[in-house]
Amino acid sequence: MWDDLVGQDAAVAVLRGAVADPSAMTHAWLLTGPPGSGRSNAARAFAAALLCPRGGCGECHECTTALAGTHADVEVVATEATILRRQDVEPLVQLAQRSPSGGRWRIIVIEDADRLNETSGNVLLKAIEEPPPRTVWVLCAPSPQDVLVTIRSRSRSVVLRVPPVDAVARLLVERDGVEPELADAVAHASQSHIGLARRLARDPEARARRREVLDLARRIRGVPDAVLAAGDLVEVAQAEARAATEERDAEEKSRLYRALGAEEGKPLPPALRSQLKSLEEEQKRRATRAQRDVLDRAMTDLLSLYRDVLLVQLGASDGASGGRGIDLVNVELADAVRTLAADSTPEQTLRRMDAIGTARERLAANVAPLLAVEAMAVALRPQG
Ligand SMILES: [Zn+2]
Repeated sequence: MWDDLVGQDAAVAVLRGAVADPSAMTHAWLLTGPPGSGRSNAARAFAAALLCPRGGCGECHECTTALAGTHADVEVVATEATILRRQDVEPLVQLAQRSPSGGRWRIIVIEDADRLNETSGNVLLKAIEEPPPRTVWVLCAPSPQDVLVTIRSRSRSVVLRVPPVDAVARLLVERDGVEPELADAVAHASQSHIGLARRLARDPEARARRREVLDLARRIRGVPDAVLAAGDLVEVAQAEARAATEERDAEEKSRLYRALGAEEGKPLPPALRSQLKSLEEEQKRRATRAQRDVLDRAMTDLLSLYRDVLLVQLGASDGASGGRGIDLVNVELADAVRTLAADSTPEQTLRRMDAIGTARERLAANVAPLLAVEAMAVALRPQG
């Protein structure tokens, strides 16, 4: 059950310790770690272990339903919204007051505790300060600094680290039956992000998309190429984001129609229109956010390529797979990395990395994606 948490022995020991010894138990936990370190897996495994009569066998009904997120006493809150609002948190606070229906604990997992704002955070804080005896809050966030200090100070902190690349590769080989060579490549490429590594290993299209993004580095020869490439990149991101959100949007909409007792496809009575409007606005925000996430990942990939180029230029890596020095992130693109390294200077590489960093900052600050990406692409072109 804890196997997915590769390289997290210290954190797992703390959580298992609390399961085994009730005096080590706390009502509010804060699990932090970089994306892909397994925060939400750790939270679910912890919930299962707390409910399992054998302390986390991984096989009984309590364990399997808790891990799947269907256990009646485990509430897992995951959001794609940018902010967790007061109205999102209030039902959880009420739920926390109720005793567990069958299990030993009522466990509420908030996967994105970094998205609480001042108002919703304060609502949660009151619930954490006076917890009913059998309620456990498990909050997850990228780092403790991302969570309101008042909440942080009342929670017990467990920190997950970035797992070693070879441990991620081994997990993919042993649990998912991935070919060792591919497992090694995707573990490097994802920079130890387990979920991403698994997706890259399973989905050839995801690998192809990543390669297309990295190919920009070679494709851009001048300003016109740069402008075209930027347009392509933004379009691909839009398509990917749309694919990720479309189905769920439609489901939410028909659920709303049913809840309002209205028929889909027919105009809503004026009094109910504001409900639909606010759902549509939320969905639009989510789509924008999904697109930015996809673009940001593309830029992180590009950044990793130039990081590899710089390592070769500085002689810190010989750019060969399993060769001398620091490993490349993009093992499969070693040839391209060596060519780029030979065709430019370390100063140019650093300037390109800066341009990518600037574009990421501008995207995060809500600059129109095409503008930010175009400026970046132009800065990536070869310069005399
Ligand atoms: Zn069990």
